[in-house]
Amino acid sequence: MDMEKIVSLCKRKGFIFQASEIYGGINGFWDYGPLGVELKRNIKDAWWNDMVRNPPPGPDGEEIVMVGLDSALIQNPKVWVASGHVATFADPTRKCSGCGKFTRADQLWEILAQCEWMNSLIQEFTPVTGQIDTPRLMKWAQGKGKKLAPNLALVKNPQVVLSFLATRVNGQPDAPPELMEMTRYFATEQLHATGLQDPCPLCGGPLGEPKPFTLMFETHAGTEKSDDTKVYLRPETAQGIFVNFKNVVDSSRVKPPFGIAQVGKAFRNEITPRNYTFRSREFEQMEIEFFCKPEDSMKWYAYWRDVRKAWYTKLGIKSEKLKPREQGEKELAFYSKACTDIEYLFPFSEETQELEGIAHRGAYDLTQHQNASGKDLSYFDEAAWAVYDKSAFKGDKKREQEEKAKFRYIPHVIEPSAGADRFTLAVLCEAYSEDTMDGETRTVMRFHPRLAPVKAAILPLVNRDGMPEIAEKLYRELKRDWNVQFDDGGAIGRRYRRQDEIGTPFCFTIDGQTLVDQTVTIRYRDDGKQERLPLSEVANKLREALRP
Ligand code: ATP
Repeated sequence: MDMEKIVSLCKRKGFIFQASEIYGGINGFWDYGPLGVELKRNIKDAWWNDMVRNPPPGPDGEEIVMVGLDSALIQNPKVWVASGHVATFADPTRKCSGCGKFTRADQLWEILAQCEWMNSLIQEFTPVTGQIDTPRLMKWAQGKGKKLAPNLALVKNPQVVLSFLATRVNGQPDAPPELMEMTRYFATEQLHATGLQDPCPLCGGPLGEPKPFTLMFETHAGTEKSDDTKVYLRPETAQGIFVNFKNVVDSSRVKPPFGIAQVGKAFRNEITPRNYTFRSREFEQMEIEFFCKPEDSMKWYAYWRDVRKAWYTKLGIKSEKLKPREQGEKELAFYSKACTDIEYLFPFSEETQELEGIAHRGAYDLTQHQNASGKDLSYFDEAAWAVYDKSAFKGDKKREQEEKAKFRYIPHVIEPSAGADRFTLAVLCEAYSEDTMDGETRTVMRFHPRLAPVKAAILPLVNRDGMPEIAEKLYRELKRDWNVQFDDGGAIGRRYRRQDEIGTPFCFTIDGQTLVDQTVTIRYRDDGKQERLPLSEVANKLREALRP
């Protein structure tokens, strides 16, 4: 499937726009249009409803306790020192000496595989055979190459580059250069002085050594701009939860196991934002920190891993496109016992990409904040202590204190951390389809009804005989509960197509028969099937289809 078609539909129909588009846009920032905002809101509401208000029963069939939170985007900068973000929240980056721009170092070859000059150049040779067609490459260098990759060594100095490459190919006829090596030859102007170079995805120029680049956006709180007033836009919502752990426990009568959930914006100054909204600099997260006893933590980890995967399939993501990937020991953070990424096969990549991470974070975060703030963030299990048999040390205060201390612990944390924008993008990609109906090709967005931006369209078949009045009455009734549309413009077939293209699951048509027996036509988006339904049943039908 073609990503361009999805991007174009999103703009045409008002799902997603480039931020500040009339000024040429701004890299890594996106705006959601009238339909996009409904879609994303439905996603966040579905998450809140299914994870916070009514999560699936726990591993032993028990009810899960979840509460919500909405913490500030800007916190005391000490939060980000304690969490480790100030010291280590950085990605390796390489600066191009040609254009001066930066590229994320650990994703260089993935980025190159998607860049325009590379995709153009790749048409001109076949790396595995070791054959190089010098005139053809020369022609590319002097034509397309000049436009697409002006700083590529092959473009600046084709004779020298091609002669280095020829020496290499002829010198080892049994081991022709693979694509990566070949590309590095194309990027290298002075082989003897510099060795093979890696090219910049933007201009082809040589990239410098990797250096860490901190991803947190900085700003200042207050009138003065100094180190003392420096603050950070949060790069994740999670820390706002950890620093409120004590507040929530003290105010809400919750006790482990329980979770705190938050939905909100996060900001990361990504070095190479790309793949539409997939990697943006401003995005929204839907995060849970689930606090439990250390000895139960693996049980809760398995619970959340399975619950989160099931949630995506329940909302219409096909399981074959969804891959839970358990991180290997080397990939895990030092404090983490386990982590699973739930990945999705987006059309822009041959490999699945992360939608959500479910991480076992141990006692790391609460311990860090306890040490840095000096505030006790442990939990005392009052209920267990109350029923504990104390007869063996009755009257012995010292012993009692020692025994009591065993009921105090820092809870372990399981963190399912999902991206609202990434899931919105996955839903758009999954929903997009083209088929033939009544001999016509149609584009149809097959959204799950709960996520569809418009739930139903109410259509009078013709604009007379009292049909518009009945339709309008129905529309006014339904719009009190749902986002519905009234459409009386154009032939009925065209109106159905319009709704298909924005993914409206149901159309209710008021026609001649309605005047006779108070029934309407319900037309289903996915197969175009039509049935009759009493007018009085329309709201119930919709309510049933949209129930979680
Ligand atoms: P990646 O490896 O893709 O950079 P990450 O492992 O750094 O992601 P986390 O810090 O675990 O991501 O963030 C949790 C979730 O937040 C991710 O699974 C993703 O859905 C979302 N997310 C993270 N960074 C971005 C971004 N730049 N743009 C959009 N969503 C993001």
